[in-house]
Amino acid sequence: MAAVEKFSAEYEPMVGKMRTAFDAGKTKDIAWRRRQLEGIHRMMSENHEAVTEATRQDLGGGKLRGIGEVSPGAAADHALAHLDDWTDDKWISGWISRCYTRPEPKGVVLIIAPWNFPFNLSLLPLVPAIAAGNCVVIKPSEMSPTCASLLQALVEKYLDAECIKVVQGALDETTALLKQRWDHIFYTGNGVVGKIVMKAAAEHLTPVTLELGGKSPVIIDETAQMDATCDRVSVIKWMNCGQICVAPDYVLVHESRAKEFMERQKALVQSSFGDNPKANREYGKIVNERHVDRVQRLIETAKGQLICGGVAGIDRSARHVPPTIIYDPTMDSPLMQEEIFGPIMPIVPYKTLDDAIKIVNSKETPLAMYMYSQSSANIEKVLSKVSSGGACVNTSLEQVIGDDAPFGGKGPSGMGRYHGKYGFDELSHTRTILRKSTLPGFRAPAIPLPNAAKPTPD
Ligand code: NAD
Repeated sequence: MAAVEKFSAEYEPMVGKMRTAFDAGKTKDIAWRRRQLEGIHRMMSENHEAVTEATRQDLGGGKLRGIGEVSPGAAADHALAHLDDWTDDKWISGWISRCYTRPEPKGVVLIIAPWNFPFNLSLLPLVPAIAAGNCVVIKPSEMSPTCASLLQALVEKYLDAECIKVVQGALDETTALLKQRWDHIFYTGNGVVGKIVMKAAAEHLTPVTLELGGKSPVIIDETAQMDATCDRVSVIKWMNCGQICVAPDYVLVHESRAKEFMERQKALVQSSFGDNPKANREYGKIVNERHVDRVQRLIETAKGQLICGGVAGIDRSARHVPPTIIYDPTMDSPLMQEEIFGPIMPIVPYKTLDDAIKIVNSKETPLAMYMYSQSSANIEKVLSKVSSGGACVNTSLEQVIGDDAPFGGKGPSGMGRYHGKYGFDELSHTRTILRKSTLPGFRAPAIPLPNAAKPTPD
C-alpha cells in the first residue's frame, strides 16, 4: 500500500503537467498530431530489427513473429492519410440552423497493454489516441520486460516527451496509475483485471475500452474444403505459441471429417516444426514459468486422446510447451472451460450443426468465431445463432487486419472497438454543435414557451 501511495504521489504531478499541456491546446494542433504519427512510422521502420530481437528475448519465435509487432507503422500511415477527413466537421442537417458534429480530443488517456504483442498492443491504440489529439500514458506489461524497456526508449526518442509517456511497472505502479483521473482508459488483457480497471474508472466516471479475450471456437462442417481449412486453422493456432487473443481456441468438427482433420493437423505440426519443436527457432516460447504450469495443468486434466505433444515434451525453465493436440477432451475439463492462450488444440467431434452451436453458446460470448464451410445455409445459420466480437468464414484471424475494420469484443470479451476510423471515434468526443440563424424573420426563441413574448418584428 505504501508503494502504491509513493507511486501515486509521483504520477499525480505527471498527469497534472500533461493536462496543462492538453489544456493549452498543444495536442489539438493538427500539425502536432501529424508529427507524432510520422514519428510512429519512423520508429517502426528504423527499428524493426531491434523490435524483433526484443520480442524474441521475451517470447521467442522467428521473423514472422516480429512482423506482427510493426503494424502500428502502417496504422499511423493510414491515420495520416485520413486525418483531414476524420478531424473535419461533419454536416448533419439544417437550413435555418446548421447542425454538425466536431470531434474533440478527450484529454489525457491511459493505455494499459499486455505482453503477448508488446509493441503492437501498446502502439496500435496510441495511433488513434494521437490522431484524436490526446495526451497519452502507456503502461506496457511487466511480463515482457525487454520489450517494455525498448518501447520506453523508442517513445522517448521519437515522440513528444511532454505529452506521450511510457510508465513501466507491475501491480503497484498500475494500481497507482488507476487512482489518477483519466479522460479515457484503454485496457487490453484478461477480464479479471478488466473488472479492476472498470471499477477504478467508475471512481471518476472515466470511459473505458476493454479489449479482452475468451474461448474463440472453430466450427468445421461436413462440406468444408479441407486443404484450406487445415492450413488456415493450423498457422494461426501455433503462431506465438497460441498466445493470441483471437487464436482458434478449440475446434468443433463434424464427426464425418474429424479423423481426417485430426490426422492432417498432426502432419502439419510435424512438417512445420519437425521432430523437435524446441530446437526450431520459428516456434515461440511461453511468456513465463507460471504460464507453463497453467498450460501444463490444462493438458493433464483434459482426459482426451493425446495426438501429439503433451507434458513429456515440456521444458519449464526453457519456457517450452510443444504443440499439443488433444482429441475429444471432456467438456467439463478446464481445457474446455478456460481460455487456453497456449499451444493446445482440442478437437471435438459433433453430430449435428445444432450440437456444435449448443456447445459454443454454452460458453461466454467469444472475441472471435471461425466457421469453415462451403454451405451458405450452414454459414448463415452459424452467423445468426452464434454471436462473437468478430468472425471469419473459411479463414482465421484475418478479421483483425483491415485498416478500418472495427475490432473489439462483446460482453465478457470486451467493450468498445478500434482500428482505423473506429479507433479515432473511440478516443474522441463527438460533439454536436447547432448554429441557429439570427437573420430577420428567424429570431423566435429556441423553444416557444406558452407565455413567451412575441418576437420583435424588424
Ligand atoms: P498481462 O498480465 O500483461 O496484463 C495486462 C496488463 O494489465 C498489464 O499491463 C499488467 O501490468 C496489468 N495488470 C495485471 N494485473 C493487474 C492488476 N491486478 N491491476 C491492474 N493492472 C494489472 O496480460 P494478460 O491479461 O495475461 O493477457 C492475456 C489476456 O489478454 C488474454 O485473456 C487475452 O485474450 C487478452 N488479450 C486480448 C487482446 C484483445 O485485443 N482483445 C489482445 C491481447 C490479449
